[in-house]
Amino acid sequence: MLEVRDLGKNFDGFWALSKVDLTVEKGARHAVIGPNGAGKSTLFNAITGYLKPTTGSVTLDGRDITGAAPDRLVRGGMGRSFQRVNVFPELTAFENVQSALLAHHRRLWDFFTPGDSLYRDEAQALLAQVGLAEDAPRVAGTLAYGKQKQLELALSLASEPKVLLLDEPTAGMSPQETMDILALIKRLQEERGLTLLFTEHDMEFVFAIATRMTVLVQGTPIAHGTPEEVRNSEEVQRVYLGGEHAA
Ligand code: ADP
Ligand code: MG
Repeated sequence: MLEVRDLGKNFDGFWALSKVDLTVEKGARHAVIGPNGAGKSTLFNAITGYLKPTTGSVTLDGRDITGAAPDRLVRGGMGRSFQRVNVFPELTAFENVQSALLAHHRRLWDFFTPGDSLYRDEAQALLAQVGLAEDAPRVAGTLAYGKQKQLELALSLASEPKVLLLDEPTAGMSPQETMDILALIKRLQEERGLTLLFTEHDMEFVFAIATRMTVLVQGTPIAHGTPEEVRNSEEVQRVYLGGEHAA
């Protein structure tokens, strides 16, 4: 579903990514793990069009998307969320999802259609899917942090992605919120047959959810494999999973 070949990103002489090869199979829940500063967010930004790669190529479902702009990628089936929460805080949860649906379907608001009737059922259905049915009328900025992340998932799903990239979906969450979002992500991935590529620092979360893993260290993958293979890799133990990071 997603092929990354020899990807590199240079910031003013510093290679944040170099020689990154990554194959994400259709239907996988593929985790990218690695220490802080390893280049995980940079990799996601280079894949999703927010950064132009310095070298290499990215292919989505057989189409070359290297350096393509984010809005074109979304139309091609790419969805993503960010490490920081990314909703419209002044709008209600319902209006957030409705706006995302409108943007996806490229319908312009006009003077003849009452705005609040557009995609009403679809918006409610998406909110229900992420567990926010009751929160539809609440202003997004007043929702608990975990709920804002659930809302962000609904926004990503509005564009009906084939591939969903989640950058640290549990960042800043309480243990309970982490468990809830974990169950939600797994359920949505299975129900929709999504291909999921995600980063995460919580190793318990990673090993509970990932079907494949890539370990990134100083901008370059040092291992790919199943969670078992990665857990048992001596190289990974030595460089990353040992000591305080032990899973
Ligand atoms: P991770 O997400 O794995 O913690 P990042 O991708 O955020 O790592 O960062 C990788 C490295 O690239 C870090 O050393 C970071 O300081 C550097 N970096 C990230 N973005 C930029 C940027 N826009 N300009 C310069 N350096 C950057
Ligand atoms: Mg990051």
